[in-house]
Amino acid sequence: MNIPLLVDSHCHLDRLDLTPHGGRLENALEFAYQQGVGYFLCVCIDLEHYPGILAIAGQHDNIALSVGVHPNERAGEEPTIERLVDLAQHPQVVAIGETGLDYFRVKKTDSEWQRRRFRHHIAAARQTGKPLIIHMREATEDTLHILEEEGAAEVGGVMHCFVENWDIARRAMALNFHISFSGIVTFPNARELREVAQRMPLERLLVETDSPYLAPAPHRGQTNQPAYVRHVAECIAGLRNTSLAEIAAATTGNFNALFRIKRRV
Ligand SMILES: [Zn+2]
Ligand SMILES: [Zn+2]
Repeated sequence: MNIPLLVDSHCHLDRLDLTPHGGRLENALEFAYQQGVGYFLCVCIDLEHYPGILAIAGQHDNIALSVGVHPNERAGEEPTIERLVDLAQHPQVVAIGETGLDYFRVKKTDSEWQRRRFRHHIAAARQTGKPLIIHMREATEDTLHILEEEGAAEVGGVMHCFVENWDIARRAMALNFHISFSGIVTFPNARELREVAQRMPLERLLVETDSPYLAPAPHRGQTNQPAYVRHVAECIAGLRNTSLAEIAAATTGNFNALFRIKRRV
């Protein structure tokens, strides 16, 4: 069998449930290789956990990193532009994020700090020339507005775990962003999202797990892991009436180009 080479463009390797893998990340990665998943972007959500993910990436040349503070994180260090720029100098850091806006847990009126932090991340991305990883939940208009206002199109990036409709996808792509699908696209009731996966240009498509969250079908409700990005890619191949090999080649090529991965995967 010819195994396609897939990339998990968004995972949290320091948070995986390793119980099924004998407690070892190596075994989880080995299981992913067996499914044809050979490269991973481990996404930072706060600066307190950054040294941990840096240590994981330091042991593997097929793991890239981002640096940033998630819009839902409030307890830790508030990142300045200078601090983000400084941390982003590490050669394995390929992106700034995840950043963005999330009004699911915090009301819009109480979230000026989220918007300020988001603007700082965009400024850091523009200073370093690195693309952005955007988290957008129940905050679509404000997120797109700030991306536009701060000139994020100059560096572009990815709308991670995209869950919106075709109109929003078009607007995000017009701002120079890629669209990344998680396991949500495998849920039959995600009708509008599945339509986006069908219609969008292949050149802007990425796949991710966001593991340990959001396991795709047929593992819905279980803990998620990078190997399962194969289910996301298979689902999109089915929706677009094409092969897994074509989706794998396109999404991996898009990933390499967007994040300027030197060791080609
Ligand atoms: Zn997110
Ligand atoms: Zn995430």
